[in-house]
Amino acid sequence: MRFTVVTAFPDFVEAFLSAGVIGRAASTGALDVRVVDVRDYADGDYRQIDDYVFGGGGMLLMAEPLARAVEASGSEKPFVVYPSPQGAVLHQEMVETLAGKEHLLILCGRYEGIDERFIETCVDLEVSLGDFVLTGGELPAMVLIDAVARLLPGVVGREEAVQEDSFYRGMLDTPHYTRPALWRDRPVPEVLAGGDHEAVARWRRREAVVRTLRRRPDVVARAGMVPYLTHGVYVLCLLPDGAASGEVPGMETMAGACRSYGVRRFLAVPSRALDRSRAGNAGEGSPFKAFPSFAKALRWVREKEKQAPCVVGLGRAAQPGAVHWSQLKRELLEKDLPVLFLLDLTEDKEHGGDNRCDAVLQPVRGGDGTVGELTAAGLLSVVLDRFLGWR
Ligand code: SAM
Repeated sequence: MRFTVVTAFPDFVEAFLSAGVIGRAASTGALDVRVVDVRDYADGDYRQIDDYVFGGGGMLLMAEPLARAVEASGSEKPFVVYPSPQGAVLHQEMVETLAGKEHLLILCGRYEGIDERFIETCVDLEVSLGDFVLTGGELPAMVLIDAVARLLPGVVGREEAVQEDSFYRGMLDTPHYTRPALWRDRPVPEVLAGGDHEAVARWRRREAVVRTLRRRPDVVARAGMVPYLTHGVYVLCLLPDGAASGEVPGMETMAGACRSYGVRRFLAVPSRALDRSRAGNAGEGSPFKAFPSFAKALRWVREKEKQAPCVVGLGRAAQPGAVHWSQLKRELLEKDLPVLFLLDLTEDKEHGGDNRCDAVLQPVRGGDGTVGELTAAGLLSVVLDRFLGWR
């Protein structure tokens, strides 16, 4: 990937680009980074790049030298980013999107900023580091390059480390410790020194969840749950009366969604009237595991997980006591129980209705706010994405 930084202070940026991880990646060719002095594109002996703001105020970078620097960048259409306190606040999703660009050209503002006409015609994205004001765009440019580059292959030594960092899977990272094992009367957590890798992994998962819930509950909605739960997630579909399982539309789609999102097993309870014989022997090749009743399916999950699952009903209509998915997601992560999503396609509540649920989700709303328009497979996909999808 190629980066170009257009700045009035090239020394400042060059020092950063020649050091550390970024410097190494640039020297091996993993990154192509160029720094352009905007004065090289200015007119006159003084190589003027700024002028007074019309109507009064301080100085502003002029449009023409910047435009020439962009045009001379060698790419037909670099993706032009202007760091600005007025831009969208930078976050990991934006960094990932920028890492997909071939050529990122970053324009560093100074003084009061840059001429608005240049922003309107040449800038693709304005990015802010946060709600505060810096003296120039060089530091934000370095931040952008650093955050984007470490996602690119060959830049960071151990690439798995990037995936374990905060925000990659949505959650914050776990706490880390190094030697000595006892520092000023403070020992490292016992489990870390014990050498039991499985126990360490479990401890790390829990710590990541606990600190994310405590410090940044807002990011939990965008985090996948599967890597952080000790137990499995299951989906149970109660099939409508009189329908053979093979005739229920969307069963294959639902099974595919379960596989994609890391559901441990897709279960189905065919109606009592029929399909009973198939219930016991829908074997490994079947998209789902069948049970003759809700109670038996529940018992199977409980035995497998050695713990009763939290049964979550997928609400298809508004009902009292229903919970918002993001609130429930936090609770499920906190309790760390097995989860059984229950999709009831029967009309018969006796067969295993909402009274069997520990929580029922509010129905999916969108567009004009009407509910109940989604197919069962559509509803399940939305719910799985909200709970198990990563951002
Ligand atoms: N007058 C501008 C305003 O209030 O929006 C601030 C200009 S600032 C003093 C000079 C330059 O620093 C900006 O053009 C921009 O490139 C950079 N800058 C300052 N704060 C920033 C922030 N929070 N995020 C990104 N860039 C920033």
